[in-house]
Amino acid sequence: MAHDKKIIVGNWKMNLDVHEASLYLYQLSKLVKVHRDVEVVLAPTVLTLQSLSLQVNLRQFKLAAQNFYWRDHGFFTGEVSATQLRGIVQFGLVGHSERRHIFNETDKEVRNKVAAAIRNHIRPILCIGETAWERANNETHDVLHDQLIGGLSNITSEELDQVIIAYEPVWAIGDGQNANPDDVTKVVGMIRRQIEHLYGAAAAESIQILYGGSVTPDSAAAYFAIPGIDGLLIGGSSLDARAFNEIIEKAHKSSAETKKE
Ligand code: PEP
Repeated sequence: MAHDKKIIVGNWKMNLDVHEASLYLYQLSKLVKVHRDVEVVLAPTVLTLQSLSLQVNLRQFKLAAQNFYWRDHGFFTGEVSATQLRGIVQFGLVGHSERRHIFNETDKEVRNKVAAAIRNHIRPILCIGETAWERANNETHDVLHDQLIGGLSNITSEELDQVIIAYEPVWAIGDGQNANPDDVTKVVGMIRRQIEHLYGAAAAESIQILYGGSVTPDSAAAYFAIPGIDGLLIGGSSLDARAFNEIIEKAHKSSAETKKE
């Protein structure tokens, strides 16, 4: 089932302080048109989420946390929970490759975070992807399988429709290397087959899958053309208002073309 909305997520990572983030949101709000067929989600640093939640027009942009802790309250110095983010964000990234590889986040933490997000009415965006080494050694299938099982094993079929999967090959993130759209097509098929195995054919068809990895306005259209890709997760290009807006416009164009078919 093709979804009627493309999802574009901008991951600002550890960039922009409170004032810069507010100014950037203002600039984006002047540029970005509201399209019924595109959901635009911004993931700023946690520090800025509360003030941006008061500034943002939720018809135009939704907010996402880049990370959160999976327990709701307690003796966890320095952490912020999904419970505390409830009402401030609508989405939450979980298991981004920078969290897995720099901060050694495990599948156990990832699955607890997916469950914590759902428990707190935040839609988890579960990020999965293979490293260059795993790819070179033909391990992509097994890695994605383990990350999907690892991330989803606390999630019931009823809860699964809240989950979004982001396929982000680690080797393509942040360094300008574009994944070949034909390869992404194959991997998205693989992910849907794995979801089918876990949750059945209807779930495999309806789950929303994003692609992420060095997408620019020039490369975006090729990813929107992939059957089964429901949107994009954008890092670098989301910090350039014109580039980000161009990607949003391309999402709208591709949705409009799909509707005509
Ligand atoms: C990301 O951080 O998820 C990402 C896709 O980054 P970039 O677009 O910079 O590769």
